[in-house]
Amino acid sequence: MNLKDPSGRLARWALRLQEHDFDVKYKTGKKHSDADALSRNPVEEETETSDKFLAVTTSMNLAMEQKKDQDLAKLKLLSNSSKNEEFRFIDGILCRKNFDPDGKLWLPVIPKHLRADILRHFHDAPTAGHLGFAKTYDRIRKRFYWPGMYRNVVRYVMHCRECQRRKSVPQRPPGRLVPIPPAIAPFHRIGIDLLGRFPKSAHGNKWIIVCTGLLNTICNNKSLADSRSRRNSEVLT
Ligand SMILES: [Zn+2]
Repeated sequence: MNLKDPSGRLARWALRLQEHDFDVKYKTGKKHSDADALSRNPVEEETETSDKFLAVTTSMNLAMEQKKDQDLAKLKLLSNSSKNEEFRFIDGILCRKNFDPDGKLWLPVIPKHLRADILRHFHDAPTAGHLGFAKTYDRIRKRFYWPGMYRNVVRYVMHCRECQRRKSVPQRPPGRLVPIPPAIAPFHRIGIDLLGRFPKSAHGNKWIIVCTGLLNTICNNKSLADSRSRRNSEVLT
């Protein structure tokens, strides 16, 4: 796809389409009578966030944005040294070598003021779906680089209000059931359950203790005024 002056929405579409292998064939208006409802579907306006984010992916803009971040100056110096293999300027953009063999070879370095937009885009956007830390981090690290990205993503996902509101706190898995060996004589092994607290009875009791012999299932109940262990053991004797 060749554009004389790629900028704005056209440039973003050109970038998006670059990854596909396709031929553009012109069809005159007359022949284009078989368009279906989908191809006539109105295109929704892009939100400000995605607009801003996609804008930075165009090379000219990103090079300019990088100049605004003073903290990147150190990395720029590194890129100038001949010994350095980690940082390099590609099409005017400061890039860092990607050590992941599956990804792109060079990743653009993102200046500080654009990082929040990227975090939002890859975590909060309707297409991002508020995924957990690992998936959000994986999506971002495959495309961009900035120092301290790992920490930033951890913090961002941990403090996301929407995630806190919707997702349950991860709990430890319940333990395994342990079989109880059978009793060898009546009341050799008993099960005790304390029920309560109930409304106070006429005798001042609020608790019910239930003792069951595990062999003969004989059940012994007693009401108690309190749930302290000394009173409970008195019932058993
Ligand atoms: Zn979230």
